[in-house]
Amino acid sequence: MHGLELLKKGNIWRIGSGSQDNNTWNTQLVQSVFHAFDAQEILKIKLLHAGNDDFIVWHYEKSGIFTVRSAYRLGLNLKQNLTSTGASGCPDSGRKLWDNIWKAPVPPKIRVFAWRLATNTLAVQENRHRRAMDLLPTCSICGMALEDGYHAVMVCTKAKALCDSVRKQWNLPPEDVLSYTGKDWVLFLLDRVCPDFRVKLLFLWWRAWHLRNDIIFAKGDALVEASAHFLFNYLDSLTAAGSSDPVIDSKGKRILSGPMKPVVTICRTEDWVVPDQGLLKVNVDASFLESNNSATWGVVIRDHSGKALVSAWNIITDCPSAEAAEAFACLEGIKILRTVSDRPAIVETDCLAVSLAINSSTKDRSVNCGTYEDIKLIKLFDPCIQVLGVVVCGVVVFCVTLCRPV
Ligand SMILES: [Zn+2]
Repeated sequence: MHGLELLKKGNIWRIGSGSQDNNTWNTQLVQSVFHAFDAQEILKIKLLHAGNDDFIVWHYEKSGIFTVRSAYRLGLNLKQNLTSTGASGCPDSGRKLWDNIWKAPVPPKIRVFAWRLATNTLAVQENRHRRAMDLLPTCSICGMALEDGYHAVMVCTKAKALCDSVRKQWNLPPEDVLSYTGKDWVLFLLDRVCPDFRVKLLFLWWRAWHLRNDIIFAKGDALVEASAHFLFNYLDSLTAAGSSDPVIDSKGKRILSGPMKPVVTICRTEDWVVPDQGLLKVNVDASFLESNNSATWGVVIRDHSGKALVSAWNIITDCPSAEAAEAFACLEGIKILRTVSDRPAIVETDCLAVSLAINSSTKDRSVNCGTYEDIKLIKLFDPCIQVLGVVVCGVVVFCVTLCRPV
């Protein structure tokens, strides 16, 4: 595949205003048309201001701008038939198989995890190796085999131990039924077993992945027995509540629902450079948790003496990425700034991508274009706001200013 045909494969529409009335998604319509996962992803996209038309972007670059490199990779992937099967793109015959995931009575985060396992889009070593050849595809925990999804959640040491441990209390399919059957093993296996087994397998794989990540990214001290008991309690609490949306998360914390009012506190200055007299400095930051798409933003506004005028933070629900959270923090920082003062201000973010996007003179085509265009619009009418990119320790690594050099 090449030329125009390849270009068509990589182009997508970025939605403009979406609605002429109130600039919001018609949630009910989106949820009724798309599968749960797709609807959830669509609703996370921030819409542009009314009047902005939909526009075409290149799907295979974060920036939305076409590059020969990504087109070459796409062509190669299509040729090797490596592109994963999308939930909403499968034919009716396959729809029933996907329903075993999307209609399973388990929490949404477990369904999403199972979808990633089924579409081979987890960050297992084999997939990472495909993108960066210098990485070994071998499992970095046991070193015994290639790490694909099946190995990570069924074969590797802790995954196997977890499966053995939960068998003490849960009735699970016999070992031979759980054997690898090819690249569609998840869909195939879920379709072979009864609904009760299906739910337990989904829970089991999800927790096995948690144990795997605990070894690779954390201290690796999560215990198999404790994980098994966690799963027993988790499933029991769901069954008791009769709900697929539990109120307790994987760390046993209660999930907050509904918008919270921003919390305002007083802060102190440390390793931070005061702004010139007459200027204010707005420091913004965000944190992002990929496992449940939750994020928080924080803002501190200080004057030339270092005195904090205001600080605030809040939660972002359904946040698609770390960059989206950082961009949102920046937007909130600017909004709060203008509620407390009209003075010129410097906004500092430690996210390079955010400051570059905000200070770029070209139209943003990334998935965060809604937030970026909002900030650009504010800056257009309020040019006394500068947005700078800084590193965490306070050293300015680069600065791009719209109105005047720093
Ligand atoms: Zn392993």
